[in-house]
Amino acid sequence: MKFAASRLDAVQPSASASVSQAAKAAKARGEDVIDLGLGEPDFDTPAHIVEAAHLAALRGETRYPPTHGTAEMRQAVVDKLQRENDLGYALDEVIVSNGAKQVLFNALMATLEPGDEVLMCAPYFGQYKDIVLILGGAPVALECPAENGFRLTPQQLEMAITPKTRWILLNLPSNPAGAVYSGEDLRALGAVLEAHPHVLVLSDEIYEHILFDGRAFLSFAAANPQLKDRTLTVNGVSKAYAMTGWRIGYGAGPKLLIAAMSKVQSQICSGACSVAQAAAAAALNGPQDEVAVFRAAFEARRDLVVERVARIAGLTLDPPGGAFYAFIGCAGLIGAQTPDGKTLEDDTAVTAYLLDDAGIAAVPGSAYELSPFFRISTATSLEVLDVAMDRIAASVAKLK
Ligand code: PLP
Repeated sequence: MKFAASRLDAVQPSASASVSQAAKAAKARGEDVIDLGLGEPDFDTPAHIVEAAHLAALRGETRYPPTHGTAEMRQAVVDKLQRENDLGYALDEVIVSNGAKQVLFNALMATLEPGDEVLMCAPYFGQYKDIVLILGGAPVALECPAENGFRLTPQQLEMAITPKTRWILLNLPSNPAGAVYSGEDLRALGAVLEAHPHVLVLSDEIYEHILFDGRAFLSFAAANPQLKDRTLTVNGVSKAYAMTGWRIGYGAGPKLLIAAMSKVQSQICSGACSVAQAAAAAALNGPQDEVAVFRAAFEARRDLVVERVARIAGLTLDPPGGAFYAFIGCAGLIGAQTPDGKTLEDDTAVTAYLLDDAGIAAVPGSAYELSPFFRISTATSLEVLDVAMDRIAASVAKLK
């Protein structure tokens, strides 16, 4: 008997989750595997944030929260966007959800008609495409090559917009490539969008605080105030505060869009966990020292991986400008022969070989719609990354 509805047929299970499952299975068989598949900080949530959740529970903040977020958390978001991003929003222009993922889902569920096109910059976070497919929309991948720093150009954007385009999804800085956009880049994209008033902009800024080489973050809506009334800024606490398990994300945008998203959310889950919202408010309102410590650690790890990849013939990596991944080019390995005589036909074969020979779990570029690459997460200690890079180098050296 078929259980799943046909709209799920086109949806693939998450590639990074599948890679991690394969890594776990290999570990269970006793193999020595380093899992560089999943993207989550390896740090603990700072203690003052955990304490805030504890106190909220003791105070009795344990009932259904308001659908679109507690007053305390929405105020914390309003204050954060003003303080850090120079963006002014009212309380009813903010929604708090179960992770940035749910903000994305709510937004697309609330707005997409069947067949509406959603532009996304490949390589992109896999969930973008899958949500659009689940909702009956049409994902449109715009290939952003390494030669242009994995960034979308204004010309590409102009060419891609059709009367059916509903959204452009941006990710600043990006998963998986760590692409960063200057103020000038963002304004150039904004200038194109100005001429197409039917297109909404979703700016996913979840990696805002993981930005390297002294760069300052600029929000899309701050760079393009003329588009603020059709931009949804998406962010959350998962990555900046090592809070992936708390599941709190938020969106800020036009009041009518937020109201529509809240309607969706009311039917799905009645809102996000009250105690986790208290923790997230403490994260946004409290001391930011640990955010800087995490950022510096991610930068040191980025540096190690860049330096090590440069010494491996066949692999390429320009320093990612942010986020905690390395999207490594492996064109030089395609067509090579493994020691047991297999030919590496594509990046999926490369990651299969790395898992098998090096005991390294990595995600193929095809999962992000740009090949031939593979993504490793750098959200793990320098010591582990050092060993992982040794093993990758040794396995690549065995190829003919
Ligand atoms: N957006 C991007 C680009 C991500 O990489 C991720 C997580 O991997 C998310 C959103 C989801 O974040 P959250 O944990 O807040 O749902």
